[in-house]
Amino acid sequence: KPRDKKDVQELIKQHNVKFVSLWFTDILGQLKSFTVAVEELEAAFEEGMGFDGSSIHGFARIDESDMIAIPDPSTFALLPWTSPEKTTARMFCDIYEPGGTPYKGDPRYILKLNLEKAAKLGYTFYIGPELEFFYFKSDKYPEPLDEAGYFDYSLDAAENIRRDTILTLEKMGIKVEYSHHEVAPSQHEIDLRYAEALTMADIVMTYRVVVKEIAKRYGVYATFMPKPLFGKCGSGMHTHQSLFVGDKNAFFDPKDPFYLSDVAKHYTAGLLKHIKEITLVLNQWVNSYKRLVPGYEAPVYICWARRNRSALIRIPLYKPGKEKATRIELRSPDPACNPYLAFACMLNAGLKGIKEKYELPPPVEVDVYHLDPEERAALGIDNLPGSLIEAIEYAEKSELLRETLGEHTFYNLIESKKKEWDEYRIQVFPYELEKYLPIL
Ligand code: GLU
Ligand code: MG
Ligand code: MG
Repeated sequence: KPRDKKDVQELIKQHNVKFVSLWFTDILGQLKSFTVAVEELEAAFEEGMGFDGSSIHGFARIDESDMIAIPDPSTFALLPWTSPEKTTARMFCDIYEPGGTPYKGDPRYILKLNLEKAAKLGYTFYIGPELEFFYFKSDKYPEPLDEAGYFDYSLDAAENIRRDTILTLEKMGIKVEYSHHEVAPSQHEIDLRYAEALTMADIVMTYRVVVKEIAKRYGVYATFMPKPLFGKCGSGMHTHQSLFVGDKNAFFDPKDPFYLSDVAKHYTAGLLKHIKEITLVLNQWVNSYKRLVPGYEAPVYICWARRNRSALIRIPLYKPGKEKATRIELRSPDPACNPYLAFACMLNAGLKGIKEKYELPPPVEVDVYHLDPEERAALGIDNLPGSLIEAIEYAEKSELLRETLGEHTFYNLIESKKKEWDEYRIQVFPYELEKYLPIL
């Protein structure tokens, strides 16, 4: 792993790299990229590369549009799918204003600021995400590859794509734990080995590119859309999280029945208490809310449990009492989120719980989907926001979210999401025509 620009120049010579793609992210987590010839790289490191921020979603207004991207040498990696005569590498960039101050709308910077808050308390934030996705025949219509079921020829084809994807991730230094076919037709999951949160946010961005690039090579379209098929499971990004102090897991307590420390319990309580305010970031699209419905292994109700997959937070106990593996799993985020902002929000909600010593309510080990509203109310179980507009309303009122994202990005995000909602709510969908036209 390179440490500085000298190491990068070494690697460039060694691998005969011709181009370097410079990557960064807009506030909705869409990857932006521009490519420089290797001769330009020195200048990119020294002065940064200028671009027009006003064309990037959620970035500057027209009158303050000059932005500068400076590559982070520690993120240098070859893009294994580029051909030898056009060998290309990539680096993630940090975004600055022309005067050299970090840009307040840069998601990577926002995550760094929040990680500093954790660092001040002595914590390193670790994340292990499980990104689910679908392979479809094209991006025009969600037609699965393996409708016929498991182990038929077409599923075999998908397995090859998946293996190729894993090999590519590994070539880029990204560690994969395991992968499998998911519940829905043509739905897959490749699980990553946990890493520190900033590294992991970069990895999530890379993972989405790699999954799509390799699929394209097989003539297939890969999507992270949260709920592409009505009546089938959607795609989640369950996020395993823990805080370490040095190499000690601050979530681990060998004497607790759940092996959870007070820190872990307060953190979990923080997530539960603030989840509605940060859902706009964890589930940021109109479509995200089509996934968060009962019956499809996606969470709807705000509670935690050890085993129960209908709970919002689960405490995995695969390796009981193993210190390093002790963590909590938040099941609501979806893989179409902005990982930088999502990780920042989860962390800050958890830290708030720790600082204020929130008390963790008792676990709910029954299947919450099957409780009726009175039973849920009796247990004090609340719901996640049911639609984008509900999530916007909770977000708008949230001090925690404002503090996590900063004024600039908080305002831009809410603005952008209100526009999306307005665009959506005036549409007339086939569902409505089929339902109402014959009877009204
Ligand atoms: N696909 C489910 C979701 O939407 C999760 C299935 C699982 O337990 O992995 O979150
Ligand atoms: Mg899964
Ligand atoms: Mg899971």
